[in-house]
Amino acid sequence: MKLGYIASEITPYASTGGLAEVASALPRMLAKADHQVVCFMPCYRAVLEGPRNLEKTGIKITVPVGMKMFTADILRIEEGGVATYFIRRDEFFDRSQLYNLPERDYEDNFERFVFFQKVVVSLIDHLGISFDVIHCNDWQTGLIPYFLEYGVNGRRRGRRAKVVFTLHNIAYQGLFPDSDYAFTNLPFSAFSVDTFEYYGQIGCLKAGISGADIVTTVSPTYAREILTPEAGFGLEGVLSSLGDRLIGLLNGIDTNIWDPATDTHIAANYDAQNIAGKRICRERAAVRMRVEVGEGTVLLAMISRLVDLKGMDILTEAMPEIMARDVSFVLLGAGQEKFEKVAREWAERWPGRVGVRIGYNAPLAHEIQAGADMTLMPSKSEPCGLTQFCSQRYGTLPIAHAVGGLVDSILDPEESDRPTGIKFYEYTADSFVAAIDRALNLYRAPEKKARIIQNLMTTDVSWRRAGERYEALYRQLSENSAAK
Ligand code: ADP
Repeated sequence: MKLGYIASEITPYASTGGLAEVASALPRMLAKADHQVVCFMPCYRAVLEGPRNLEKTGIKITVPVGMKMFTADILRIEEGGVATYFIRRDEFFDRSQLYNLPERDYEDNFERFVFFQKVVVSLIDHLGISFDVIHCNDWQTGLIPYFLEYGVNGRRRGRRAKVVFTLHNIAYQGLFPDSDYAFTNLPFSAFSVDTFEYYGQIGCLKAGISGADIVTTVSPTYAREILTPEAGFGLEGVLSSLGDRLIGLLNGIDTNIWDPATDTHIAANYDAQNIAGKRICRERAAVRMRVEVGEGTVLLAMISRLVDLKGMDILTEAMPEIMARDVSFVLLGAGQEKFEKVAREWAERWPGRVGVRIGYNAPLAHEIQAGADMTLMPSKSEPCGLTQFCSQRYGTLPIAHAVGGLVDSILDPEESDRPTGIKFYEYTADSFVAAIDRALNLYRAPEKKARIIQNLMTTDVSWRRAGERYEALYRQLSENSAAK
């Protein structure tokens, strides 16, 4: 099959979190299965300043954004069997961040991503690839189904490929005032409550949902949660109307990148047969993060965006209780200023026991995963979560709020005799601390600890299962359209 994959971030080129890893792993896995996979993403500063030499294709694509015309230069690279095209226009994408500064979104996000999406649609036509399926991700690509249908300059194009839209997090809706509609150059008839009008605004996530043939999200539990008023952010109606066209498929991780047996970022390699290296990693991680770990000290870690949804409120409330145990705690993350500040205060309050590094640092994330005994994921909401998979792969016990994909990917000792983590069900600091206590108790018995590390490290966290499901989905869609 010929598959087009469009995302606003793709590892290793530019990344702020889980989407980028998914957008790298799934296309590569599909390419290995002999499909032609072509990816499209914006050419951010991080891409331009990155270590890779991108090929200048010489292709220039000009599209209207409202009354103005803008031209993009197209760059390209081929890696892991996947060709990736970068849409370059520096006034839109050569910025320090991808979407926002710490406390506010870039004001022209709608223009930026309308431009990106239009260029992608025009580029697909320029390249003359007739994709069987075009796979879009999150609000930044939500209007693609409409540009495929109506064209980029208001002349009907007619959609040929089937469209899959994956919603990675319903909290990020891409809402913009309806006065920005002119930037789309779409006919006014395309904007209605049945398409992407969201309470008088333009809803880009809603556009992806209403415009796609199939909508997927990143775990079965999240697929159910978003049908409720509490978690649906006002989209529960449109999502419910999809019926079986809404599918929850649990993500995985790239087990080549996340492999303690070969990882070059960590102090010593190890695997399920011989975990001796994990001790060395623990010592190195403790030194790197400036915390001490005695023989009986349990090293807790958190690697996360520091935002409300990641449970920073209950973590803040629980910190004094947590630190009353024989633990050290290391935190790597970046996000809302108020949480970055709180985290720095913890390091001052518990020197030598709490180590904080603010920023996004992939090699350090590997070191911490390898070195920690347990990771904390007190997320208020978590569509899938990837950190728990990385932890499991590195023999590090995840302690998580039972929500979204964390429900589907972690087996608690209370539900399985082959547990792969600890879950707590009530979103409170008390339940969180109780879960940490259960984990600490479990690790006091060396044979139980050894068994659980084996469980963790032999759990299949790869893309294999989800990748095969996506492949079947694409095939079904393209066969349906061929039969018509
Ligand atoms: P989200 O996509 O909501 O940020 P996920 O758990 O799905 O959360 O994915 C986050 C991924 O990004 C994980 O692989 C995690 O290790 C990584 N990550 C998060 N914060 C950082 C950071 N500050 N430095 C390095 N990696 C990080």
